Amino acid sequence: MKRWMGRGTWYRPVTGMLAGTAAAVLTVGGCGASGDGSGHARLPAQRARPTGAPGSTAGSARTAAAWHRWGLTPLPDAPWPPADKPVKLTATGTVPVLTHVPTTQKVVFITIDDGQEKDPAFIEMMRDLNIPITMFLMNDAIKSDYAYFTSLQALGNHIQNHTLHHPVMSSAPLAHQKDEVCGDQKILTEEYGTAPLLFRPPYGAYDENTRTAVGECGPRAIVWWRESMQIRDMQYQDADNKLRAGDIILAHFRGPGELKGTTMTRMFGHLLRRIQEQGFAVARLEDYIQPPGRRQRAARSSSTALRAPFGP
Ligand SMILES: [Zn+2]
Repeated sequence: MKRWMGRGTWYRPVTGMLAGTAAAVLTVGGCGASGDGSGHARLPAQRARPTGAPGSTAGSARTAAAWHRWGLTPLPDAPWPPADKPVKLTATGTVPVLTHVPTTQKVVFITIDDGQEKDPAFIEMMRDLNIPITMFLMNDAIKSDYAYFTSLQALGNHIQNHTLHHPVMSSAPLAHQKDEVCGDQKILTEEYGTAPLLFRPPYGAYDENTRTAVGECGPRAIVWWRESMQIRDMQYQDADNKLRAGDIILAHFRGPGELKGTTMTRMFGHLLRRIQEQGFAVARLEDYIQPPGRRQRAARSSSTALRAPFGP
């Protein structure tokens, strides 16, 4: 993010939040926060399963060598995503707000916002590690080099909507909000060949108009987060500072200027270590979400979490 709120400013994403939600307890800034944390991840293009070819010793050795190059040891393999997706989206109606994925699998999801930093080494790192990420891209930050993100997309990662100019949506009128979401939707669809299914509001700030605008522009869910990666560690929503199954982690495309000299790849390495220490694998968010239009017969089963945007 681009000094949107001034570096080091912790933006409390409560502006315009729906009244009564527990979201206000999240002290972590959407974009606008800077900090200190650590980590890693993985994922290949046509493979449903992230990390490198388990089962073969040679494959494991290759994977380990690739991770070593970044000073890391491989994360556990992510389990296969459930056939019955825990999140089911509908083509119409108010868009749900997702802070986590209801799953018992020991997985977390990494999302990376904005697009300001375009470190070529990060593309190499993602190729080596095969960790899935979801990118919420904002046009002002990416328009100088759309192709950078095409390289990350080619690894199997999805590109999602994060507005044209990164405004505080909750203080903008509906028409303005629609311009922001629809504008980014159009550009991302043209540049990357696929229409974003998900939207993340800058700073996490949204209101009812945001939900209307998002629904009218194409994305079918708003995605929030539970942890925010800083430089060496994460800020956690809960006081026990622990990841939980299905957590969505927010990170940003940031470089040394915003990370006190730390590079994007080092920050990402720290992130992976923090995930590894807690015994989680990294899964692909989109593998746990059923887009509208796919049969929704199983919809009765387990999609209740969407009704409670800021559940446990
Ligand atoms: Zn942002």
